[in-house]
Amino acid sequence: MPDSISVSQAMRYNRQIVLPQIDLAGQEALLNASVLVIGVGGLGNAAAMSLATSGVGSLTLVDPDTVETHNLPRQWLFRDDQTGSKKVIAACDTLNQRAPDCQINTVEHAADDDELKDLIQHHDVVLDCTDNAQSRDQINRVSYLARKPLISGAAIRFEGQLFVCQPGSGSSCYACLRTLFEAPDVSCTEAGILSPVVSLTGLHQALLAIKLITGAGNIPVGQLMLFDALTYDWQTFSVPKKPDCNVCSASANVSENK
Ligand SMILES: [Zn+2]
Repeated sequence: MPDSISVSQAMRYNRQIVLPQIDLAGQEALLNASVLVIGVGGLGNAAAMSLATSGVGSLTLVDPDTVETHNLPRQWLFRDDQTGSKKVIAACDTLNQRAPDCQINTVEHAADDDELKDLIQHHDVVLDCTDNAQSRDQINRVSYLARKPLISGAAIRFEGQLFVCQPGSGSSCYACLRTLFEAPDVSCTEAGILSPVVSLTGLHQALLAIKLITGAGNIPVGQLMLFDALTYDWQTFSVPKKPDCNVCSASANVSENK
């Protein structure tokens, strides 16, 4: 039986509840929802803060890293005195103070396929907030098999990127996107990142997750959305489903079901 909203929660989230597209039902859906946030860097910080304070009932944060000084300009959940602490523990500390309705769970190591599968199965939406191709491929593959919606974010230099995969919708997956826009795995360490660009991208991931959970508006499934902060342009590209994609094609799913 899902939890219903309390009087104090109705007051706290009033400005969202008055939106007809959210309403009490949408806020209750958020309260009963769980989101898996993989990666607690710039994307995961902004996404987790927005989801938790918006009234999402449960978040699980996964990240093996510790807080470093060069994270602090972008990663707003962390304080100077938390450098050297595990990111998920430092983030949990801040979120517990800011969002009393949100249960925060933490995983302090990188999850292997079996653990990731178990985590994904126990959440409604997956956010990929990682920064490397290997993790992105793993998260896409395991989320798709578990039939859970995946919202991928990426940011580098002045550019942000978003992609939503919803298994069962017939649309493309992140692996289809990767073969179409094959790019070298360059990190922000070498290339740089402007602080608000990564936070904006993480906030968009949170927004898309809230829309998925509440059913408000449309979800741009299978669309690559690119933001360029230098020109202030948004561009959207339809990503076709790759017939021989080893994650989302019919043959991939047949072989997995054997
Ligand atoms: Zn695919």
